[in-house]
This record gives sequence, C-alpha cells and structure tokens, in this order.
Amino acid sequence: MRYAARTLLRQGLTGHTGWPQAWRSATLQPQYDAVVIGGGGHGLAAAYYLAKLHGIRRVAVLERGWLGGGNTGRNTTVVRSNYFFPESAALYDFALRQYEQLSEELNYNIMLSQRGILMIGHSDHDMELMTRSVNAMLLNGIDVELLDAQQVRAELPLANFAPTARYPIHGGFTQRRGGIARHDAVAWGYARAADSLGVDIVQNCEVTGFRIAGGRVVGLDTSQGPVRAATFGLSASGHNGVLAAKAGFRLPITSYALQAMVSEPIKPVLHTVAMSAATGTYVSQSDKGELVFGQGLDLYPSYAQRGNLPVTQNVVASLLEIFPAFRGLKMLRQWAGIVDVPWDYSPILGPSPVDGLHLNCGWGTGGFKATPAGGWLLAHSMATGAHHAISAPFDISRFASGRLIDEAAGAGIAH
Ligand SMILES: Cc1cc2nc3c(=O)[nH]c(=O)nc-3n(C[C@H](O)[C@H](O)[C@H](O)COP(=O)(O)OP(=O)(O)OC[C@H]3O[C@@H](n4cnc5c(N)ncnc54)[C@H](O)[C@@H]3O)c2cc1C
Repeated sequence: MRYAARTLLRQGLTGHTGWPQAWRSATLQPQYDAVVIGGGGHGLAAAYYLAKLHGIRRVAVLERGWLGGGNTGRNTTVVRSNYFFPESAALYDFALRQYEQLSEELNYNIMLSQRGILMIGHSDHDMELMTRSVNAMLLNGIDVELLDAQQVRAELPLANFAPTARYPIHGGFTQRRGGIARHDAVAWGYARAADSLGVDIVQNCEVTGFRIAGGRVVGLDTSQGPVRAATFGLSASGHNGVLAAKAGFRLPITSYALQAMVSEPIKPVLHTVAMSAATGTYVSQSDKGELVFGQGLDLYPSYAQRGNLPVTQNVVASLLEIFPAFRGLKMLRQWAGIVDVPWDYSPILGPSPVDGLHLNCGWGTGGFKATPAGGWLLAHSMATGAHHAISAPFDISRFASGRLIDEAAGAGIAH
C-alpha cells in the first residue's frame, strides 16, 4: 500500500481497520544470495539497496533483537555534513543529499527538519580554529557560514551572552542544511521498503559464529540455525569488534557507551541544533518539545548499555552553563548506546580481511547522519566485491599504511 493523503482519508473513513503490516516477520531460510548482520539503519539500508539497485532479491537482514533497537533508536538524530577532510565531506554530504529525498524515495516520512546546526565558539582560539574549518569545508563544497557573536545571539537568544559567563560566546559557524530527522522512521522506512522488495528481516536472530572454508566466509551460525550465502555484510555497530574476532580478525576499534538525555517537553524555544566547541555539549528540541542533549563518550571501554553518572552530571552542568534558562526543567529520560570508535574516528568500510565479508563499521558517535550512504556503500561492496570511490579512503588498510582520516583532530566534533 502507498502511504498518501488519499489512503489516510480512506482508512479514516473505514475506522483504520485496513492498514497492512508494514513488514513481514520473516523466518530464516537456509540459503540466501546476500546476508547482512545487524538490523539497524545501516543494515536495513544495505538490504534495500542490494534489492533495489543491484537486483539481488534473496537478501536477509539478521537482527539479534528488534529492528532499530540498537544505536539507530538511541541516537540524538543530528544530521550534517560539515566535516573537515575532503574524504569525510564527500561521504557525509552523499548521505545528506540522500536524506533530502529519502521520504519520497521510501514513501515514508522521515521527518527531516533542516533547521541548521550551529557550533558555538567560546574563545579567540575557538574562532581561529572555526575559521580554518569553515575555509576547509567551503573548499569541500559544504554550505557553512562563519557567524559573529551578534549573529549567534539572533539564532540562540536563550544562550548565556554575559561577558562573565564561564563559557563566553565569541561567535560560531552554521550549516543551514544540517538539522535532525526521526531516527525510528529511517529504520522503519528502510525496513518497509526492503520488505516490499522481498528482503527477509529476521528479528531475534543472533549471529554466533562464521563458517569459513578456503579463507572465505560461506555461512553463519545463528540462534535460529545455520545460514549460507554468497556475500555477507557486517553492520553490528558496537558489537562489530566481537563479531570480527569470531571471523578471525581484529578491528582497530574500541567500544564505549555514549549517553543522551531528554528534558520534559516545553513550547518551541530552540530553532536550530546548538553545539558547544569547548564542552562538546549539544542540544536540539524535538517535535514533541523535549530538549534532546548529550556530549562525549563515557571514558572507559564498556558493553554496559547505560552510561555512568559522573558523565550525566557533566553533560547537564555544561548545558546549563550555556543555557541557564533551562535550569528549571526536569529531566525525563537518560539512556546510552554502545558505539564502535576507530582509532581515527572515521568509519571502516569495504572488503574485510576475510573474503566474502564486507564491513560497515566504526561509525562511532556519528553514524546516524551517514545511514543512507553507509547502506548504499555496503550494498555496493557486497554486490561488486570492490570499493566505490567514496568508500575507498575508508578501507581498513589505512591502519597499516598510516593514511588515517583523523576527523576527531580535524573537526573536533562528533554526533
Ligand atoms: C546516545 C547516542 C547519540 C548519538 N547521536 C548521534 C547523532 O546525533 N547523529 C549521528 O549521526 N549519530 C549519532 N549517534 C551514532 C549513531 O547512533 C550510530 O552511529 C548509528 O546509529 C549506527 O547505526 P547502525 O545501523 O550501524 O547500528 P545499530 O542501529 O546499533 O544497528 C546494529 C544492530 O546490530 C545488532 N547486532 C549486534 N550484534 C549482533 C549479532 N551478533 N547478531 C545479529 N545482530 C546483532 C544490534 O542489535 C543492532 O540492532 C549516537 C549514538 C548514541 C548511542
């Protein structure tokens, strides 16, 4: 069924009894052409593009929990492409351009809101670095603008502009095409579109091992039995390191908890996504009115999906230094996801050290914004056995050659 105003009207008149299931609950088959491990946004997108663009119809996505229940359903939904290095700008802008037409493509409203993203600078040094970043981004073809303090005040009237503020505001820069999108809708939209092309989405199906013959992955062991395929994709986010070890190689990543929080809902007060360079804190307001905010990683490696209290306290304290007006709000929820962070903070894409297995790993704290590109590039790698030009610089071999793409040092911002 096509989702459209006409369909909604017809369903409204008939008591909403005729909506079909958005996707089937598939049972695992013993053999597929392609199998993707991980039913987050990236895995579901890869399955969709395998079927849509490469004509591969016998595709399965294996998800150990429920689809979108990993980081896809836990992130703070920021999308942007204001990256420092040309390789990253090409990757993330490819994703943002896909996001801009994704609702039409999937016939599913992903609630993309290009309200802009504004990075605040708190010192002359911050502003010098931002000038350098903005110049690099403009050369990369990204729509960014440097702002003075008055321009930031016009965008963020509730921020603390007092000269005595602990984090005084000297200016900032913005990408107006950045913003937020509804994270669940991205997963659900890809799931529904993939299912309509015949993809099997198998939930509660944990991959427990790899069957390797002659140096090639030929099958998987799962909690629902073995499965064989011609090509496999690894897209299990915080657990990619665990699965790679089962396939016999080590990924240069560390898994950490990353936290986020929301306040009680309030009337619209924040019309862009605000980020603070010095503290790493960022905040947006959801369509429901909640302030959605977070900061950096919990400071030690962990698979405990909850986060620790000192970090929570630090995030709230720095948010209130920058926006004292939010002091009276109650916190509604706090949660965490386990993210896979590579040594240079850039993703690891393309063929793995074991034939037949392709990587979509290392998105760390910022992979939601890359979902359409990550899925598209994984599908390309799985279908052709080779890199696309956009994913080639992100090959795992960069950790041996030293050609790292050190975005953490380059841009200093995540999410
Ligand atoms: C608190 C928080 C805030 C964030 N904010 C942002 C943001 O604002 N913007 C942004 O761009 N990014 C953000 N991110 C990062 C972003 O969420 C991730 O990079 C992105 O969602 C990764 O998508 P994915 O599909 O690779 O992973 P996931 O959605 O985590 O999907 C991987 C799936 O693999 C499954 N899986 C794991 N092991 C197995 C197994 N053995 N067998 C089968 N399935 C398995 C998991 O259950 C999971 O569903 C944030 C992350 C967190 C935690």
